[in-house]
Amino acid sequence: MFIFRNKFIRIMKLTFNNGWINKKEYLMIVNLFKYNGVLTCELCKEPINSNNDNRRMSIDHIIPKTLGGNGNLDNLRIAHRKCNCERRR
Ligand SMILES: [Zn+2]
Repeated sequence: MFIFRNKFIRIMKLTFNNGWINKKEYLMIVNLFKYNGVLTCELCKEPINSNNDNRRMSIDHIIPKTLGGNGNLDNLRIAHRKCNCERRR
C-alpha cells in the first residue's frame, strides 16, 4: 500500500505539472486518497467541514513562509482554518 501511495502521488504530480489540475485540487485529491475518501485536516486529523467556519479548509505551509517555506506541493497540506491559524501563533 505504501508503494502504491508513492506511485499515486507521482501520477498526481505529473497531472499537476501538465496543468490538468491546480494546486488546490492536487492537495485535495492526495488528501482524500490518504484518508480513505474523507477530506481531513493534517494537523488534528478531524474531517474538514465547509459549513463550520473553524473547520473550513485552508492550505497550510509545512515550513511557514516566514521561515522560508515555499509554495511547492511537498510543502503544502490541507488543514482546518482554525488549526492553521493556531499553528501560526
Ligand atoms: Zn484541524
